[in-house]
Order: sequence, then C-alpha cells, then structure tokens
Amino acid sequence: MQIAVIGAGMAGLTCARQLATHGHSVTVYEKSDSAGGRMSTRETELGGFDHGAQYFTARQPAFQRQVATWCRAGLIDLWRARLVTLDSGVAIAAGLSGQRFVAVPGMNALGRHLAQDLDVRTGQRVTQIESYHDGWLLRVSAETVAIEASAGPFDAVIIAMPADQAAPLLAAAPMMALQAAQARLAPCWSLLLGFEQELRLGYDGAWIRNSRLAWIAHDASKPQRRPGEHWVGHASTEWSAEHLEDDPERVKEKLLKAFHSATGSDVQPVYAAVHRWRFAQAIEPLPSACLWDPQLRIGTCGDWFSAGLDGAGRIENAYLSAAALAESITA
Ligand SMILES: Cc1cc2nc3c(=O)[nH]c(=O)nc-3n(C[C@H](O)[C@H](O)[C@H](O)COP(=O)(O)OP(=O)(O)OC[C@H]3O[C@@H](n4cnc5c(N)ncnc54)[C@H](O)[C@@H]3O)c2cc1C
Repeated sequence: MQIAVIGAGMAGLTCARQLATHGHSVTVYEKSDSAGGRMSTRETELGGFDHGAQYFTARQPAFQRQVATWCRAGLIDLWRARLVTLDSGVAIAAGLSGQRFVAVPGMNALGRHLAQDLDVRTGQRVTQIESYHDGWLLRVSAETVAIEASAGPFDAVIIAMPADQAAPLLAAAPMMALQAAQARLAPCWSLLLGFEQELRLGYDGAWIRNSRLAWIAHDASKPQRRPGEHWVGHASTEWSAEHLEDDPERVKEKLLKAFHSATGSDVQPVYAAVHRWRFAQAIEPLPSACLWDPQLRIGTCGDWFSAGLDGAGRIENAYLSAAALAESITA
C-alpha cells in the first residue's frame, strides 16, 4: 500500500519504519523543520538543551528489546542521575530507583536516526484529509509556498500527533474523532537556564513540591552533553495551564524566581529562555493501544494511548501505540 504518516515524532517514525519493513511505500509529513517531535533539543551558543522529553523508561518487554538495540547501536545511554525531591529549597527524599535512558548527544538525535532511510517531508503541515476514489488525498501547506498543495493518492493514512492536533484531521473518520476528543493533553512551560558559575547543588535532577516548577534537571549531567551549567525546568501542569497565554518574558521572570527559591541558589544565569508546549503530556489517555478503521484505512497512534501501560504521556506509550497500529495494518 501507499501509506501517508502525518507527524514525525516517536509514534509516526516508529509506525512508518515498521510499515516500510513490511514492504509498504511510506511517506511521512512533518510540519516542523526536523523530525523528533517532543523529543526535542534546542541548540544554543552554550550547547543543546533538552527542553521537551527529559528521559525515558522501558517497562514493557517489546520496548525493552528496542531500547537494548538502541543502546548497543550507541544511540541512547543510561542517565545515571542523582535525583531528589525538593520542598521549599530542602531535599526531602533521595532519587527513585529504575533505569532512565536519554538519546545522545541530545534527545533530538533519536528522531534524526529514526527518520533515516524514510521519505520524511519536513516543513509540510497537513491541513485536511480528503476522500479520493478508493483512497485519500492530503492537503498540505508549507510556509514557503502561498497556496496549499495536494499530495497522494494514498491507500491509507496514519495520524501520529497529540489528540488535539489530530482532531481536525480526523474529520474524515468521525467515530475516531469522537474517541480522540476524550483524550486530554496538558500544557507545559519549559525554562532553559545557562550559568557561567557552577551551582554545586549536589543533584542532577529534582521533582519540586509547592512551586511553580515541578521538575528541574542539569542537562549537562546527561551522557555526551557539552559540559557546562545548563539547567532545564518544567512548570507544573496547573501553573502552565493557568499562564498558557502569558507574555513569555513574564513567564521567564516568574519561573527564574521559582528556580532560585527551589534550589536556594541566587546565581544569575547568562542565558535564559522559555518554550511553551501547548500539548506536552497526556493526562487523560485512551485505554486502548491505537485506533484503526480497516474500511476507511485511517489510523491514529501516539502517547495519548495507554497501550498496556499504567498511564500515558510518555515516549514508551508513543512507541507501543505505533507498533500496535503497524501490527493491526499489516495483519
Ligand atoms: C515538556 C515535556 C516533558 C516530557 N517529559 C517526558 C519524559 O521525561 N519522559 C517521557 O517518556 N516522555 C516525556 N514527554 C512526553 C514525550 O515527549 C512524548 O510522549 C512523545 O515524544 C510523544 O511522541 P508522539 O510521536 O506521540 O508525538 P510528538 O512527538 O508530538 O510528534 C507529533 C509530530 O507531529 C507533528 N505534527 C502535528 N500536527 C501536524 C500536521 N498537521 N501536519 C504535519 N505534522 C504535524 C508535530 O510537529 C510533531 O513532530 C515530555 C513531553 C514534554 C513536552
């Protein structure tokens, strides 16, 4: 089959690779200028900051096998982080057990690798899926071109992105659109800080209680990162939702204050930036692994499916959901 995959994050790329392995001809459309989605690294003059997904865990045997393969290929490594929980500047608990993996030399490197050997068309936003004879055409817009183009026809279409972004495209499959509308993803403001001076906090990452920030991590403590005092912070879900439309400069000020009070450090950064994720992590997932309509030949996958895990919103969910969808299609 000729298959279009919309979205080049972990879910879209995993599904595309597995379908291509089964002999299908796959074209991936991605609205941003690179693959990886929320496994993202912002490149700055100080080095990269993983400002989306921080690390990932592997609970299910299928994902554990994949993770072992990536480890052997040198694409990912263990992050041996010293983790604590902070409450009002005081570390109240030492790090939790379990292995945490990161892509090297930045989280975006895994997306780049998964996109290799695939036909990935970046800078192409799909705005509509239209029925055409026995298949589908995509309406595609690109920033550099004033008018929308048509792509296809395709025998099947896979939509691999956050549920809220998938909803308008699922108009072609109304029953699926209704189900997707039940999933909910929470927003997140990320804070990126670079310091000239060492902070010497004694930990590499911390969950934070009673603060605007819910998590901070010393990015350079991850393997193969450029040395330096680079920290990433994530605001809590509640605070991010409440301040979603705020001026980024105000958000930066407030989150920097929260960083200082959570860590007890008053060192001023030489670099500070924020990034808004409108759809960061699924808080109300669908209990299934994916959705696939064999009559319409439209499917959807992503981290908003629990896919056999307890909860959702993680890289492992995206992988398992995509693998389940590829299996349904090839079955
Ligand atoms: C701040 C933050 C922290 C996180 N922390 C962790 C963590 O520590 N551990 C963990 O496991 N997970 C974490 N996650 C979640 C993790 O990043 C996701 O679960 C995973 O990356 C989702 O992959 P996906 O392929 O389902 O979606 P995405 O990565 O969102 O990929 C979807 C892709 O579709 C593209 N797209 C959207 N609409 C269109 C369109 N109309 N046309 C073309 N392309 C389109 C997008 O640009 C994107 O590239 C975090 C996420 C965020 C934002």
